[in-house]
Amino acid sequence: MNSSKSNDATDSSCQGGNLDTTEEVKDELCPGFKDADTFVKYGLGAVLSATKASAGLPQSGDEYDFYRSFPGFQEFCESQGDKLLHCMSQIMQNHGCRSHIKDRDKLTGIEERFDLVVDSNDVILERAGILLDEADGVNRSQKPVMPVGFQPPKIVVSSWNRKGSSSGSRSETFRLLHAKNIARPQLKFKEKVDNSNTPFVPKIFIKPNSLKALPSYFTNKQIRKERPEDLDVPAALADFIHQQRTQEHVEDMFAHPYQYELDHLIVPESLLSKPEPQMYKPLAETNLTFVDSLEDLVTLNEKLCKSSEFAVDLEHHSYRSFLGLTCLMQVSTREEDFIIDTLELRSELYILNEAFTDPSIVKVFHGADSDIEWLQRDFGLYVVNLFDTHQASRALNLARHSLDHLLKHFCDVDSDKRYQLADWRIRPLPEEMIQYARSDTHYLLYIYDCVRAQLLDSNHGQPGLLQCVWNKSRDISLKKYLKPIYTEESYLELQRKQKKSFNTQQLTAFRLLFAWRDKLARQEDESTGYVLPTHMMIKISEELPKEPQGIIACCIPVPPLVRQQVNELHSLVQQAREMPLLKVRNHRCSPEVSLFGPHDETIRLSAPPKITLFQVALPILLHFIQLLFISPNDQRSMSVAQMKARRIIESFENPFRMYLPSADVHVNKNAKFDPSSKIFEISKRWKLQSVEQQQKELEAKKKIREEAKQQAKKASGNLVQLSFKFLKQSHIICCCFHRAKFSPCGSGRGAGCSVIKTSV
Ligand code: AMP
Ligand code: MN
Ligand code: ZN
Repeated sequence: MNSSKSNDATDSSCQGGNLDTTEEVKDELCPGFKDADTFVKYGLGAVLSATKASAGLPQSGDEYDFYRSFPGFQEFCESQGDKLLHCMSQIMQNHGCRSHIKDRDKLTGIEERFDLVVDSNDVILERAGILLDEADGVNRSQKPVMPVGFQPPKIVVSSWNRKGSSSGSRSETFRLLHAKNIARPQLKFKEKVDNSNTPFVPKIFIKPNSLKALPSYFTNKQIRKERPEDLDVPAALADFIHQQRTQEHVEDMFAHPYQYELDHLIVPESLLSKPEPQMYKPLAETNLTFVDSLEDLVTLNEKLCKSSEFAVDLEHHSYRSFLGLTCLMQVSTREEDFIIDTLELRSELYILNEAFTDPSIVKVFHGADSDIEWLQRDFGLYVVNLFDTHQASRALNLARHSLDHLLKHFCDVDSDKRYQLADWRIRPLPEEMIQYARSDTHYLLYIYDCVRAQLLDSNHGQPGLLQCVWNKSRDISLKKYLKPIYTEESYLELQRKQKKSFNTQQLTAFRLLFAWRDKLARQEDESTGYVLPTHMMIKISEELPKEPQGIIACCIPVPPLVRQQVNELHSLVQQAREMPLLKVRNHRCSPEVSLFGPHDETIRLSAPPKITLFQVALPILLHFIQLLFISPNDQRSMSVAQMKARRIIESFENPFRMYLPSADVHVNKNAKFDPSSKIFEISKRWKLQSVEQQQKELEAKKKIREEAKQQAKKASGNLVQLSFKFLKQSHIICCCFHRAKFSPCGSGRGAGCSVIKTSV
């Protein structure tokens, strides 16, 4: 830890403070925190661990009921619950909100309490907004400078982050990386993304390690270019039309390309006997290669083909894309670590199928369910001979099954899962993110050894349990990627999940908005949560605003596409208002709701929404931010507050704004699969004739990148790291913020929405 040398006693509580002049310590804005960054870091840590802890609580239903049967647990829950409610109530009071949240008698139930929290969050946010506006008095005209050049840190310079506003001190400018400056990686993809409302067809066109040949449907993809029906429709649709016409291959099209090989996979004796765990190499002594050229990828493939096992993990982004994007692949052998830029090499990654489908090479993943789907969807990659350490952890009945737990348990490594939620599209990748990503696979082969040994030990040396894990892992590798398909009934499924009861007009509005959102998301290649978060969709449906302005009022902050198409939305709402209004006595009586049937009713009634710690943490955090930056009594720090205020407004007022590069171009209306001719230049051993030319291009690109990097470095010095950390954190807060308040979870798809459970 980089503690300040000051004699301020409270200073020791500052985790990871980076500033080291005594001047700054005197400027301490909040007891125990020498600067805002320190505070934000601390606050973020607290919020994340609270979120994590709340996710770890027993779920409502069996598990919870079981725990509830112990008086000790019950008492503990009661006392903690009271504490939390008291704390929330105080915060609410401080902000002048209705605060009878802790008076159990006055409230009929958790739903009402939940609404109270949501309302209070709104009030607090709004107040923060007003105060920020006030604080942001001067110098508004100074617009962020948008950067020039390709890829490397497109930079925002704003005045608040100029260090030392007082005379005499250095006036260094922090240059900040900000998510809003991330160019859409989709724009660079050689094959456009296919968001059409048609089933996913595997991308594979060449099948290494095959026992059963790839159906001709896939190997003949190149001649489909000439088919007339391909001309103006998305690739998958063209395929579909073609199939309808020819009435052949349909079965092949949707089968798992390696089904036969996986069905005939036999775990060799050697993998069922007890291994001697082979210690991982210390990180510092391990070579790390960043793979972003075809040549390096080919080299990696050669290495992997010679190994007997390697570990794999992926990082993913789901907010600014309809289907989601695999942004990074981490691979570790016993000797080396690799990080592959899968945005850059998206169209080339399929060559790894040679190693990935080789049945004599074990591929170790932790929790591979999503990874298996992402590999198919983005690269046409399949895995034959998978070992999933998550499945092993389950079979061993370990206390928890997350990777961080295994790392702690077997390697005594504390992992910092903060970056899990980072925006992995960012390039070049900051050092912290590279290190984080790397640690996800670096230790995994050792863990693989340990769990195998334990699985045998715990079963008296018998291979049954271990065999079971191999089987489960194989089942996971047999998973097929399914594209989200829109049907006339899709909206009902979402409505049911939201536990909302609507009258006929409201339900019609919900149906029309749902269809609008789905269509636009596909067309613009955005997530449905980005186009229109579910809670806003529900609000519009419930209120059925008469004016376009009313629709805007339902959506704070207003998503860009809502603003753009508010008239279209308004006409949809009007259309819904024209429906005959059938009164609903209670939610079971709605004619459309009754479509759900008795089972759904019980599900709905037995699963009350739960308030997570996160929803508690958000107002607390905002409260502190307010205290910290906007205290009206603190005249001395006003200039700092002013500067900070603008920054915060930028990142909090409208979380969407940070995602809005001005020159954002949307494509994909006529996305086409265009099997690259390069594919056929590859000989059986994947040697590429065009490597030289590609190399030249890449070198030129690299040079440009290097130059820009140098420039950025010069301008910002090592403060880049510091300021990046801060921004990254505020971005993560934003992310959490989306999840809590503007959660895209309602879409029911996309890993980005799933894990922080807010159960709105
Ligand atoms: P991991 O396997 O932990 O490296 O996670 C892979 C990807 O899954 C991340 O890059 C995220 O996109 C997504 N993901 C993992 N955990 C979470 C979470 N708690 N919340 C949202 N997304 C997550
Ligand atoms: Mn990972
Ligand atoms: Zn984010």
